[in-house]
Amino acid sequence: CGIVGYIGHRDAYPVIIKGLQRLEYRGYDSAGIALFDGEQINLSKTKGKVDDLKARSEKEISLAGHLGIGHTRWATHGVPNDCNAHPHTSNSGNLVIIHNGIIENYEAIKKELVKRGYSFESDTDTEVLVNLIEEVKSKENVKLGKAVQIALNQVVGAYAIAVFDRSKPDEIVVAKLGSPLAIGVGDDEFFIASDASPFIEYTNNAVYLEDEEMAVVRLGKEIKLRKIKDDSIA
Ligand code: GLU
Repeated sequence: CGIVGYIGHRDAYPVIIKGLQRLEYRGYDSAGIALFDGEQINLSKTKGKVDDLKARSEKEISLAGHLGIGHTRWATHGVPNDCNAHPHTSNSGNLVIIHNGIIENYEAIKKELVKRGYSFESDTDTEVLVNLIEEVKSKENVKLGKAVQIALNQVVGAYAIAVFDRSKPDEIVVAKLGSPLAIGVGDDEFFIASDASPFIEYTNNAVYLEDEEMAVVRLGKEIKLRKIKDDSIA
């Protein structure tokens, strides 16, 4: 299982597909990608190999966009199929997430969200997390980074996540507990991955998150790692 993300001046698609291929050694049963061109979010996902994802996305979706996230899934909750493959989108369609790991208390959170009117397409724990982030964001009226932080404090489990918001085309929020996550810092571009292999050809500057750390990765800003449990984050 692996995650890859890109934001910057390049086309995100080839960076992400190549990155996913470099992470294939980690093992997986499905793969997916979301590309954001500033207006449209285009999603493609499939059970099978990164090559299958490549064939499908090149046939079915627009590959434009300078922001993107990609995932290879090793199913823990929900069988390996196209629908359970990541990325997952929140009910509003505004938040998109990739996740490696397990949300252990997802059933209790899902029940609460269903009571508040949320519905779910997949059987994954991950789709619960992205909707929890959405619920926090709208209820508390906070920015994405803060919403991710509050949501993760309600979660029991392990994760490396990358999530973006349709209203923020220059930003990806990442967090880690248990599963690995690295940020590659380039010249006004950022790479996100489970290890440095997807971005080693573009930059030597890698920042590795420790457990319980998160970062708001935003163009034009320096990477600042923050503690998920530190509630002083604005
Ligand atoms: N628990 C998530 C799922 O089953 C993520 C699995 C993974 O680490 O790839 O979809």
